Amino acid sequence: MSEQLTYCEVHPNRETSLRCNKCNRLMCPDCVVSTPVGYRCKQCVRQQDDKFFTAGQNDYVVIAAVCAILSGVATAIVGQIGIPMLFLIFIAIPVGGGIAELGLRLTKRRRGRQSATIAAASIVIGGLIGTLVPLISIFGEFPPLSIVGQYLMGNYGPLLLVGIMAFFAYSRFKMRA
Ligand SMILES: [Zn+2]
Ligand SMILES: [Zn+2]
Repeated sequence: MSEQLTYCEVHPNRETSLRCNKCNRLMCPDCVVSTPVGYRCKQCVRQQDDKFFTAGQNDYVVIAAVCAILSGVATAIVGQIGIPMLFLIFIAIPVGGGIAELGLRLTKRRRGRQSATIAAASIVIGGLIGTLVPLISIFGEFPPLSIVGQYLMGNYGPLLLVGIMAFFAYSRFKMRA
């Protein structure tokens, strides 16, 4: 009755018999990462990520530009023609996903750790500019912030569009396909 006790390689005081299914390292429940291909250690998951994340600086620039410009155009159009709220939600989902998809195609589907965040942030920035274009064109310059605030509260349609587009573009970049 002598069973050899085994311990986590990161936490030597924690008994465990779990092993990484790639490198066979012993790991405790805190060190385990559950992946679609089974339990892996953090090191193996990171190595896998490094192979997956191949985007460079230029890809980020392309993604930011595509997302900001298209989001700006979409919100400017919506602000002009006043689409009913329900329909707006309905079109925001495919438009957000579509913008992300275009960004992926233009960068040969290279992903980076920051791709999703950059896409969402660019959609928000471009969308805000697109929303404010009619106001700026009335004033001929960037209006006082108090007026901008009032204007945005009265134009929640485009803002809603921006939020939904950013969310779905973010999700699209997080998907590994
Ligand atoms: Zn491993
Ligand atoms: Zn551990």
